[in-house]
Amino acid sequence: MADLLTLEAAIEAVLARSEPLPGERVPLEEAAGRVLAEPALALVDLPPFPSSAMDGFALRSADTPGRLPVVARIAAGSPAPGVLRPGETMGIATGGVVPEGADAVVPIERVVQTDDNVEVSRRVGERDNVRPQGGDARTGDVVLEAGTRVGAAQVGALAAAGISEVTCARRVRVAVLATGSELRAPGETLEPGEIYEANGAMLAAALRAHGADVDRLAPVRDDEDAHRDALAHALEADVVVSSGGVSVGPHDLVRRIASELGVQEVFWRVAVKPGKPISFGVRDATLVFGLPGNPVSTLVGFELFVRPALRALEGERDPGPRFRQASLARPVRRNDARDELVRARWRGGALEALDGQESHMIVRAAGADALVLIPRGDAELSGEVSYLPLG
Ligand code: AMP
Ligand code: MG
Repeated sequence: MADLLTLEAAIEAVLARSEPLPGERVPLEEAAGRVLAEPALALVDLPPFPSSAMDGFALRSADTPGRLPVVARIAAGSPAPGVLRPGETMGIATGGVVPEGADAVVPIERVVQTDDNVEVSRRVGERDNVRPQGGDARTGDVVLEAGTRVGAAQVGALAAAGISEVTCARRVRVAVLATGSELRAPGETLEPGEIYEANGAMLAAALRAHGADVDRLAPVRDDEDAHRDALAHALEADVVVSSGGVSVGPHDLVRRIASELGVQEVFWRVAVKPGKPISFGVRDATLVFGLPGNPVSTLVGFELFVRPALRALEGERDPGPRFRQASLARPVRRNDARDELVRARWRGGALEALDGQESHMIVRAAGADALVLIPRGDAELSGEVSYLPLG
């Protein structure tokens, strides 16, 4: 098996063909989950004016300690009050504009109020409880770089900086096609020899959760015409992800029919377990992944190849696969020819391989928190490992 492509080389081959999609303008509310194609620049200083961090009294630190007359009350949202003169104070709410002349705010809890005066018993430091204008960002500053995936905090930052619209990569259109004459939809009755279709449902779920625009085709039988019709339609998408039919059996039609339709195969078979017979090809800019049919092979193939490709198409920095580090709870035997992705669960801060590592065991795999990378080699592996989080 020395002739098999390595996992690293296969991932590199995929990413080398995953060019960012064009950008489009998107209202802020629809940007969550998407990737910025251009940097977003602040339209205002943030905060836009020196603002109070506390409910309290604006004053000059030089006037403290002391007894000061309250000459105005400043609410959040009211315009800048007049200038604060020496020896005076103004009541101010959190978020209120700190008046010119004041250099500090003393919190309400730290003063004694009598009629229209406040008694400040201790010295207040300059700038205390004043949020300077532009302290978080200045007008024109980059709020978020191109290539950033927008999550909740990023939506908050964009909104705060006055940005109502951003440029995001177009949503990736992905066609999903399960192949196999044995497949039945859940809810139907199985005839002898049939199994329930799992991969199409799983891929569609993973793709939707990622933010892709999913075209889920009806599963096809192991029949040339059915494959041709379905693949011809699927190839209109940015990405085609099929399952099954990429092995060496007489009913494995995906690669041959894809080739007839103009797909140029970039690789077939990778030194990885599960999922060795994976195929990858391109037709123009369309990426075509032929994932093997065993459900765990499909799951692993998605995480190793499809998700990084989606990220690259979206223009995300560091498309991955984004391995993290952890330690193994117990040693794992290595495969001498193939890198292995072992399903594992957290146990006391370390990852422990689950029982039931065969590639058809999707129920066992559904209990996993992570795919642990066990590099090919002899003997056992223990200690620090790389893993991809699941779910
Ligand atoms: P294949 O890659 O087509 O040779 O399929 C390998 C194994 O995965 C066979 O046992 C298939 O029945 C099974 N399989 C293929 N496609 C699916 C699917 N969509 N859902 C569940 N199992 C599948
Ligand atoms: Mg099959």
